[in-house]
Amino acid sequence: MRIVQSVSDARDVVRELRAQGKTIGLVPTMGALHEGHLSLVRAAKASCDAVVVSIFVNPTQFGPNEDFAKYPRTFEADCAALEREGVDVVFAPSTEEMYTAGASTFVDVEGVSGRLDGASRPGHFRGVATVVAKLFNIVGPDRAFFGQKDAAQVAVLKKMVRDLNFPVEIVVCPIVREPDGLAMSSRNRYLSPEERQQARALHHALEEMERLARSGVTAARELIAAGEAVLAREPLVRVDYCRVVDPDTLEDLADVRGGALAAVAAFVGATRLIDNTILGRRD
Ligand code: AMP
Repeated sequence: MRIVQSVSDARDVVRELRAQGKTIGLVPTMGALHEGHLSLVRAAKASCDAVVVSIFVNPTQFGPNEDFAKYPRTFEADCAALEREGVDVVFAPSTEEMYTAGASTFVDVEGVSGRLDGASRPGHFRGVATVVAKLFNIVGPDRAFFGQKDAAQVAVLKKMVRDLNFPVEIVVCPIVREPDGLAMSSRNRYLSPEERQQARALHHALEEMERLARSGVTAARELIAAGEAVLAREPLVRVDYCRVVDPDTLEDLADVRGGALAAVAAFVGATRLIDNTILGRRD
């Protein structure tokens, strides 16, 4: 496994792989890897000849009062896990390497970037779209792998790829959960034991919304009220949003009959967690 830190080294190793006729899969991450990340790596391994994983805690997607400085960084353990998975290349640039002094070009996917997490975290998706566009330009992957866990991110990036004609296929992988249902997240390690218990409420709220939708409830208002009621039972949980939206535009839906994304975000203590599920799927 090659570990490269500069843009030019990344380009060189990818060029070598291409010269061998290999297809390239890219898995963008911020490190602190868990089974959710590794599921993306395995999906990439299964459908591409060579896999590049980027590890970069991207400052432009964090707000001024967010956890950029204390975001977990576990580079050695991450590389060991990626080596075990048979990853070909780890691209781990410094902030200065990714954002050369004076960089002033950003990718704004208007509309969708202001919804869900984009509404709660202004500027977040501008940072995400910009860094992913840069990674696409540096690595030039055939396919890029993202988790359904970050459903709003998926909507933003799919639209960016369409709007800007990136020759990349976006592959979305299912949410990987802890045995009790909590969606895996690098931020789960911030939770105290009591918060960790109460964090299950996000999953339970979505399960309740799914149960009602399956039983024939189609009104988004009713489903949201039921989800919020589950979240309200836990004193350490403060809801940021609980919504039912169109999975592509992230606009609110009144009714889930055509299929909908149910998405929740909540602070558990000081830690903001997200989760989601698809409702009303006709399969
Ligand atoms: P992050 O390191 O948090 O930026 O996440 C990197 C990628 O891993 C993103 O595409 C996430 O959606 C994905 N991811 C994070 N957690 C999970 C999970 N529990 N299940 C599936 N994918 C995940």
